[in-house]
Amino acid sequence: MIKVTAVQPGSIAEELGLRTGTELLTVNGRELEDFLDWEFLTADEEFSLAVRQPDGAEIEFEIDRPLDEPLGVTVEPPRIRRCANRCDFCFVDGLPEGLRDVLYIRDDDYRLSFQYGNFATLTNLKPWDVNRIVEYRLSPLYVSVHATDPVVRRWLLRNPMAPDVLEQLRYFAGYGLQFHTQIVMSPEVNDGPVLTRSLTDLYALGDPVLSVSIVPVGLTEFSKHSRVREPTLQECRRATEEVERWQDRAGRDRGAPWVFGADELYLRADLPLPPAELYGDFEQVENGVGSVRFLQGRILADAAHFREWEGQRVGVVTGTSMGRLMPEVLELLTEASGARFDLIPVENSLFGPRVTTAGLLPGASIRAALEGRDELDLVLLPGESVNDDGLFIDSMSAESLAASVPTPIRFSKDFNDALSLGAAA
Ligand code: SF4
Repeated sequence: MIKVTAVQPGSIAEELGLRTGTELLTVNGRELEDFLDWEFLTADEEFSLAVRQPDGAEIEFEIDRPLDEPLGVTVEPPRIRRCANRCDFCFVDGLPEGLRDVLYIRDDDYRLSFQYGNFATLTNLKPWDVNRIVEYRLSPLYVSVHATDPVVRRWLLRNPMAPDVLEQLRYFAGYGLQFHTQIVMSPEVNDGPVLTRSLTDLYALGDPVLSVSIVPVGLTEFSKHSRVREPTLQECRRATEEVERWQDRAGRDRGAPWVFGADELYLRADLPLPPAELYGDFEQVENGVGSVRFLQGRILADAAHFREWEGQRVGVVTGTSMGRLMPEVLELLTEASGARFDLIPVENSLFGPRVTTAGLLPGASIRAALEGRDELDLVLLPGESVNDDGLFIDSMSAESLAASVPTPIRFSKDFNDALSLGAAA
């Protein structure tokens, strides 16, 4: 059973009398478990739908609608699948105490992997899930491989029951499914020869493996430092060399680079980022792969809209890692707009200075960094630093931050979203 959380005005659902709180029970007699069932089982023109209304009345509808007319219901989000692993580098273990409960949930959910591109390890699949992945053709899936050697992978995941990921990928590939994969690189565990073997095995799977990203392990002050460490500059350089070897090979064989280092890998290796052309469609940009080049591309594409900002002074808040790459981006923005952009790299006061990503900046750190900055016309804040409810990771609300700093603020993921709203008054 799935609950309706909203009904679109004028939609088929409204005509049928569905409303917030209606329980969607079955489609063609099949019980509904989550949004996947709802989306896939109602994809036909004709089907029967059984519902229970908030007053308890059970009704069965025979639906017959044109395929291009949506039913117009929003259903409740799925109950998140919990992770069966205990990785030493798990971000959840690196959280300080006292944050929102939801932040301590270790999710590992193939449905969110398909829907949103969240990475999943596939270690918690029941036979029923496997069948559903095949039946609904959930492709591409985003899979955390880490290592293809089952022993190393079980050690990394701290899960002696973790199935052989190569066998899983092979099985799904047999049904035509494809994957974007990632390897979180933990030094002396899955780098060096283990990394070479993982890439060899994934490459041998052929076209089903669309891409591989190599992401250096990232820790906070609260992580299990006795068990895991971050890679050194030299270790990151060796990984980029491995990446380049495979990119050359894949470029010759397949006409695409296939494997990518995360921006963070190049930063830690103290190497320049590869050019934008390397990243193709930027398929792993949400995983920090090619983020800077992507941003630069967006700025160039939207440059014509920025002219109205000429003469304005705009602060750009970011984490300390992007702080090192951002000047390249801001240079482009200055040229396109004639505005002056002041970079404001903010150190993370909640997790400690080693957590450098903008998305994890607490409101309190940003507020401290903006104190007295009344010379600015506007401050842009990282769009990914607040959740859908407008809360920073330390639960400070965007409104409360806005009320306590001397300059207007706007959230932005790619500059265009904020700058196209018009210049600050
Ligand atoms: S797979 Fe590992 S890193 Fe991911 S949530 Fe589970 S324990 Fe954490």
